[in-house]
Amino acid sequence: MKQPANTNSSGPAPDQLGDFRSSLLQYYDRFCRDLPWRGETDPYRILVSEIMLQQTRVETVLQYYGSWLKRFPTLGALASADSREVLKAWEGLGYYRRARNLHSAARRIRELPGEHFPTSYRDLRKLPGVGQYTAGAVASIGFGEIVPAVDGNVRRVLARLFDKREPRARWLNRIAAELVDKDRPGDWNQALMELGAMICSPKNPRCDDCPVQLWCTAHEQGTQALSPAGIRRVPAREISFLLVILQTEEGEVMLVQRPRQGLLAGMWAFPEQELAEPLDCAATSRDRAIELAMSLGAEVVGGASVLAEIQHRFTHLQARYRPWVVPVEKLLTGEGNVWMTPGEPVDFPIPVAQHKVLDALAECRETPGNSESHASNPS
Ligand code: SF4
Repeated sequence: MKQPANTNSSGPAPDQLGDFRSSLLQYYDRFCRDLPWRGETDPYRILVSEIMLQQTRVETVLQYYGSWLKRFPTLGALASADSREVLKAWEGLGYYRRARNLHSAARRIRELPGEHFPTSYRDLRKLPGVGQYTAGAVASIGFGEIVPAVDGNVRRVLARLFDKREPRARWLNRIAAELVDKDRPGDWNQALMELGAMICSPKNPRCDDCPVQLWCTAHEQGTQALSPAGIRRVPAREISFLLVILQTEEGEVMLVQRPRQGLLAGMWAFPEQELAEPLDCAATSRDRAIELAMSLGAEVVGGASVLAEIQHRFTHLQARYRPWVVPVEKLLTGEGNVWMTPGEPVDFPIPVAQHKVLDALAECRETPGNSESHASNPS
């Protein structure tokens, strides 16, 4: 799709907007990816896809979108589900606050007069977890409202079109609002996102295939690599935890439910204790693991052994887990704890890092000869 040489120095001029929009929409009509939420008109389904796509790759969302809709085919079905079921369906997708917010939003809508789904950007913004981008996407795609939706891909495309090195949110929203196609706002927003995802990529944008090259200032100036400047990320804070795995002779292990607020709220995980020193010596860690087991009321019946360290990255946190297996007599199951056998499916939500520990435990039991590679009993 070779374009003529650029004659413009600052994005499309007002009298060029018609051609600019037509060119991008034609590209979208011809080349957009066939994704399950494309062409969707049910606002609930659009909302689900948009929330899932926040901070998550399309390939990952594809693994969840269909099964989520099978489990919660309507807003009413989601509103009626309990939070454990909702978090379980979201398990592995990360950023669990999104699932809790989606659940709260469904319940909020159910309480509205007539249970009517909000139809405007303004009313959508009142829902929990629905920010500017999500409200813009749902309002434009689901209801044809002429509003922009600026995600990371759109930010990059706009910055390059206008060669803006550090585009601020207010500028982005103003420019994006001016560009929206009045007849096809939903397709327009998706077309800009698609362009950013497929052509105007962060590294090595394919300008020769770009439908809006004619109006692109960064292409004209050869400054694609400079616009936009990278977002300065706060370095992740490293934090270490001791995990205590209470294990019975039969191999069952105990999980406890995390508090309702904070990191991984409401999910089921091994009891943990934050370590002041990441390289806490083995003997000290073992003593603390046994202390923690006893503080939970467990009767310790053997020596503790350590599993390989597990690492997991949260948004601003690099977590290191040191898991200790402590043989115990089985405690009574209470409201805040459950027992399970590693490797067997369960119906409650478990964080990814804990799944890694459970996999290691299951492997140890299935292949006893390999146990030395996972667990060791330090002297
Ligand atoms: S792909 Fe190239 S020409 Fe198209 S918007 Fe991006 S930088 Fe500009």
